[in-house]
Amino acid sequence: MTSLLNALKSGRILVSDGAWGTMLQERGLQAGECPELWNITRRDDVLAVARSYVQAGADMILTNSFGGSPIKLAHYGLQDRVVELNEAAAAISREAAGSDRFVLGSVGPTGEMLMMGQVTEESVYDGFRVQAEALKKGGVDAILVETMSAIDEATIAIRAAKEATGLEIICTFTFDKTPKGGYRTMMGVSPADMVKAVKEAGASIIGANCGNGFDQMVEVVREIRKADPSTPVLVHATAGLPVLEDGKVVYTETPAAVAVMARELAKCGANIIGGCCGTTPDHIRALVKELKAF
Ligand SMILES: [Zn+2]
Repeated sequence: MTSLLNALKSGRILVSDGAWGTMLQERGLQAGECPELWNITRRDDVLAVARSYVQAGADMILTNSFGGSPIKLAHYGLQDRVVELNEAAAAISREAAGSDRFVLGSVGPTGEMLMMGQVTEESVYDGFRVQAEALKKGGVDAILVETMSAIDEATIAIRAAKEATGLEIICTFTFDKTPKGGYRTMMGVSPADMVKAVKEAGASIIGANCGNGFDQMVEVVREIRKADPSTPVLVHATAGLPVLEDGKVVYTETPAAVAVMARELAKCGANIIGGCCGTTPDHIRALVKELKAF
C-alpha cells in the first residue's frame, strides 16, 4: 500500500475514524479502568469498535493505545506491559483495517509536565520510543501523536516515534478558544507556534483534535493555514461541545450536522477529517458520504 502522504496527493479528502473512549465506555469500560488493558482482556470489544469504523467507510482507523506510554500505564501498575498492550492495539486495528486502509498508532500525552520537572526528558523520550516501536511491530502505517498541549512533550514524542520507527508522523494539538477569540492550548501554545515546532521535529502531517466541535475547528484550521498553506492537515473534531445531561457528559451534534460542517473544514484546507469525543460510526458514515464528492 502507498503511504498516507502519497494517498493525499490525489487531492481527495480522506476520512478518519471517530471516538474510541466513548465507544468503549458504551461497551462497559468503567471510569478508573485502563482502556489499553482491554486490548488483551476484551479484545473482541476493541476489534468491534475498530471494525465499526471500517464498515462506516473510514479511510483510516486509530489504535486503542492513547494512554499506552509507560508513564501513563504506571497509573495502573501496567508499565511493564507497554510492548504487549501497544502491539496488541496495533494488531487489532490492522486486523480490522485489512491491507487497503491505513492504521494510525495513537500516542497521547503522558499527563505529566516536563516544565514542572515531574518527569525527565529522557524518561519521556524512552517511553514514547518503546510505545512507537511496539505499535510498528503490531502493524501500524503511521504514528499519530495527539491531544498535545505542550511543545516540549510533543516534539519529544515526534522525535522518539520517528527515530524508533521511520514511519510518517502526524501530530495534532488540542486548542481552546480564548476570551479574545484566538485559539491556544492549555499551555498557551497557538496554532502557529504548533506548526513551526512540530514540523521542525519531523511531523509531516499536522492538525488539531478534541476540545472543539466541527464548527470551531473551521477557525482552528484557518489559523493553521495562515501559518502554513501546504502541509497536510488532519482534524479530529468532537460532536459539538460537551453538555451535562443527568450528571453525564454528552455530545449532541448529529451526523447530518457535522457532515455539513466538514465540507466547510475541507474548504478551509483540512485534508483528513474525522471525529473525536462523542462521534460514532454514524457520524463517520455521514462524513464519508458528504466528502466523497468534494
Ligand atoms: Zn476527544
